[in-house]
Amino acid sequence: MNEILKEINAKIEALESVNRHSNVGKVVALADGVARLNGLSQAMYNEMISFKDGIFGIALNLAENEVGCVLLGDTTTLKEGDEGKTTGKLLSVPVGKCLLGRVVDVLGRPLDNKGDINAQEYYPVEKIAPGILPRKSVNQPLQTGILEVDAMIPIGRGQRELIIGDRCTGKTSIALDTIINQAKINKEGLASGDKDFRPVYSVYVAIGQKNANIARTIQLLEEHGALEYTIIVAASASENAANLYIAPYAGCAMGEWFMQNGMDALIVYDDLSKHAAAYRQVSLLLKRPSGREAYPGDVFYLHSKLLERSARLDEKYGGGSLTALPIIETQQGDVSAYIPTNVISITDGQIFLETDLFNQGVRPAISVGISVSRVGSSAQIKAFKQVAGKLKGEYAQYKELAAFAQFGSDLDARTKAIIDKGDRLVEVMKQNNNSPKPVAVEISILWALQNGFFDDIDVKKIGEAQASFEDFITTSATSLLEKIVSEKVISNELSDMLKEACSNWKKTFA
Ligand code: ATP
Ligand code: MG
Repeated sequence: MNEILKEINAKIEALESVNRHSNVGKVVALADGVARLNGLSQAMYNEMISFKDGIFGIALNLAENEVGCVLLGDTTTLKEGDEGKTTGKLLSVPVGKCLLGRVVDVLGRPLDNKGDINAQEYYPVEKIAPGILPRKSVNQPLQTGILEVDAMIPIGRGQRELIIGDRCTGKTSIALDTIINQAKINKEGLASGDKDFRPVYSVYVAIGQKNANIARTIQLLEEHGALEYTIIVAASASENAANLYIAPYAGCAMGEWFMQNGMDALIVYDDLSKHAAAYRQVSLLLKRPSGREAYPGDVFYLHSKLLERSARLDEKYGGGSLTALPIIETQQGDVSAYIPTNVISITDGQIFLETDLFNQGVRPAISVGISVSRVGSSAQIKAFKQVAGKLKGEYAQYKELAAFAQFGSDLDARTKAIIDKGDRLVEVMKQNNNSPKPVAVEISILWALQNGFFDDIDVKKIGEAQASFEDFITTSATSLLEKIVSEKVISNELSDMLKEACSNWKKTFA
C-alpha cells in the first residue's frame, strides 16, 4: 500500500504545475528555409518556434506585423498555413563529454548511427562572450605538430588564429593535422599518469562542405585515432542556409562547455566564407537591407560575436580555454575583400596559404612573410624560442636576398651563406599532411639546422637527411627527447647532448 502511495506521490511531484502560455501564429510565406509568420506578437528575438513534425525555427526578424524565422532540419513537410508556436526557450544544444567521438547536426542530433546522445546539460547556441575580467593572456602552447607553424607562427591556448587562402591550398589539412596532433598528445599524456597534464578536446564544424568531403574527414580522424577526442558538427552543402548559419554557434557552445568546466578545447570553423554566404542568403530572404558585396550590415558582428567566445580563462574562473581556428577561402589571393578583412581584424593572427607555393611543391604552402601570430609567441616553450626566435627574421632576409641574387651570379660570402641557409630552411619546413611531429623532435631538427649540421648536405637531399635524422633521434636518442620535454629549456648540458646526437647521426648519414 505504502509503495503505491509513494509512487503516486512521486508521479504528482514530477507533474509540471506551471501553465505555459504560448503564442500561436500562422505561416504566411515559406521559401528556402525561411518562414514568415503572422500572429506571433509575443515572440522574443532568437526564440525557438516549434512547428509540426518536430520542426524548429528561430525568430530572427521581429517586424510590426510579422515574424521572420529560419527553419532548421528537414522542413519539406511544412506548408503555408501551418501553425507555429512560441516556446519561451532560446535555441540550445546538448553539451558534454558524451558528444566526443560523435557526428551531430546543428541541433546536436546524432548523424552517425551510434545511438542516442544522453546529454546531462544543454547550452544556448547564442551566448555573450566572456567579459574582460575572467580572461587571461595566453600562456600555454597549442602544438600543431606542423614545424613551420610551431616555429614561426606559434599558437597559444585560447588564441584565435585564422587559416586563410584560395581553394585547395591545404587549409583544411592544417586544421585537421592540429586535431590529429592533439589526439596523439592526449593519448600519451593521459597514459603517462601525469596529474598536471591537460588534454585538448576538439570540435570540428563543417559548414557547407560536400557530404563526401565530410565523410573523408571523419574517416581520416578515425584512422588516426583522433575521433574519440573530437566532436564533429556537420551542416553540409545539401542543407538549407539556416543550418549553415547556426552550425558554428552550435559547435562553439559545445566547445564552451569544456572551457567553462576548466578544460582546454580547440574549435575549427571550416569555413566562415560559406557561413557568411549562408547568412547573406538568410538575410536576403528575410528582406533585410543589404550593404557591401550584398552582405547585410551586421555581418561583422556575425563573426565577431562568434570568435570573441574563444578565450583563455583566469584560474579564478576555472582556467579553461577555447582556441579557435577559423578558415576563410579567398578568391585569387585577395585578402582585402570584405569578409577576409573582417575576420583578419577579429583574430589574433593568420596563417596565409598561397596557390603558387602549393603548386611549386612547398607544402604546407604557408607564406611566412604575411603570416603572423600576434600573441602565440608568449606561449611558446623556452627551448623553442631558443632555436626558432630568429628564424622569421632570417627567412625574411633570405627572401629579399634570394630575389635579388637571381640577377647576378657573383655573390659575396655573407650573402651566399644566408641564401644557402635559407634554401635549407625552406626544405626543412616542408612536411606532408597527416604527419604531425612531436615538439621535442621539432626542436631537435631546428637545433641541428641552426648549428650547421645540414650545411654540407645538398639542398635536394635535405628532405631525405631530415627523415633519417628524425628516425635516428626517435630510436637512438629517446632520453634526449624526454629531457627536452621535461626541462623545456636548452641548457648547456642539453646542448652537449644534442651535439653528440647530431654528430652520431651524421656518421650514419653519408
Ligand atoms: P578546399 O578549398 O577544397 O577546402 P583546402 O584549402 O582545405 O581545400 P585541403 O583539402 O586541405 O585544402 O588540401 C588540398 C589537397 O592538398 C589535399 O589533397 C591534401 O591531401 C593535399 N595537401 C594538403 N597539405 C598537404 C601537405 N602538407 N603535403 C602534401 N599534400 C598536402
Ligand atoms: Mg577545405
